Amino acid sequence: MNDLAGKVAVVTGGGRGIGAATAQKLAGLGAAVAVVDLAETVVAKEISKSGGRAIAVSCDVTDPDAVDSMVDTVADEFGSVDILVNNAGIIRDDLLFKMSVENWDAVISTHLRGGFLCAKAAQRYMVEQKWGRIVNLSSTSALGSRGQANYSAAKAGIQGFTKTLAVELGRYGITANAVAPGFIETEMTRSVAERTGIDFDVMKAAAEKEIAVRRVGRPEDVANVIAFLAGEESSYVTGQIIYVSGSAD
Ligand code: NDP
Repeated sequence: MNDLAGKVAVVTGGGRGIGAATAQKLAGLGAAVAVVDLAETVVAKEISKSGGRAIAVSCDVTDPDAVDSMVDTVADEFGSVDILVNNAGIIRDDLLFKMSVENWDAVISTHLRGGFLCAKAAQRYMVEQKWGRIVNLSSTSALGSRGQANYSAAKAGIQGFTKTLAVELGRYGITANAVAPGFIETEMTRSVAERTGIDFDVMKAAAEKEIAVRRVGRPEDVANVIAFLAGEESSYVTGQIIYVSGSAD
């Protein structure tokens, strides 16, 4: 499968969950990985301990100056920026009539402003070297999800954003695709269970009944698809939204 030796990847929100699994996967395929998160995490150290190349960079993806400097730091450290995985994300669920403006703005900003700033900063290097891979995290929630007006709007927005990047950047050897996971077992889904007072195992069992392959997803299920989209073998795939949900929808 895809050899990423010599490639440099930036994974935002890489400190845990899907981002951590993606950082580990890309490093395992030979990429040097910048694990970007709000606070420094152990993931980069774990990758280095097992023989891979990784650095931890703390950065708030909604801050333009911080993002520019993060991308420059990665390029200084590893020599280029070839792969960007826009994974950092938050949820602030509430029904529409109760949703605060702050929670609307926070979710839209983290996903859309964050993805935009990171893509804009990374493409400076990718266009120059005429090679790049951008993978954005959308979600099945893009199709509509009760209590997630902010999140579903952000995740649907990411789909349009991804297609536009594909149109603009294809001529420079850069592809842009999105993965749209369903229920993946991470801190994010655990926090939903906690907030709603439902036992996580009960929530998983209920979800599994609705999923065609009869299990919830693992972070590695998403990382495997991202790894394909990050490599040379996917060079004729761009502007696509790939659902990773164990289901037909
Ligand atoms: P987690 O909450 O487990 O991890 C998200 C990471 O993003 C955290 O480490 C968090 O840091 C970081 N982060 C949040 N805000 C920022 C910011 N402004 N700048 C930098 N880093 C930030 O989420 P998941 O692994 O579950 O999700 C990863 C992505 O996949 C998200 O985009 C999510 O929307 C998407 N997704 C997840 C699904 C699921 O079922 N889990 C389903 C569909 C999509 P900190 O810990 O410090 O807050």
